[in-house]
Amino acid sequence: MRIGNGYDVHRLVPGDGMVIGGVHISCPYGIKAHSDGDVLIHALCDALLGAAGLGDIGRYFPDTDRQWQGADSRDFLRRVHEMLAEHGLRIVNADTTVVAQVPRLAPYVDAMRAALAADLGIHAAMINVKATTSERMGFIGREEGIAAHAVVLLESDK
Ligand code: MG
Repeated sequence: MRIGNGYDVHRLVPGDGMVIGGVHISCPYGIKAHSDGDVLIHALCDALLGAAGLGDIGRYFPDTDRQWQGADSRDFLRRVHEMLAEHGLRIVNADTTVVAQVPRLAPYVDAMRAALAADLGIHAAMINVKATTSERMGFIGREEGIAAHAVVLLESDK
């Protein structure tokens, strides 16, 4: 068994929507990022790579590479999933939390869970998505950014 954790944060800006956990959220905000800025998928990729001992998302999809400009982060997640399979690693379960003061994410968590499970080839019961606020404290509470945490457990085929 191997455990991994991931954390990511992105800047919140005025906009016309964002993608979190692979799900489009209609709101008067956007995410400032090189890729699509899917903070939840980035944290989840880092947790998976961390558990596998394979470094971090920046190693494979650097934000200095124009190839990844505006990239769909679900492509990152599917690629990370392939890398796990190549190393004989399977997901036991994953638990994630998105911390956002705005927009309100609770109505979207089931759709996020389904999207992430589909990209990882696992049953939705094996992944959990939670949404919370920061009680109006700090940069998240001031609506300057959104953060995400992920913890995963992997098991080896071997
Ligand atoms: Mg990121």
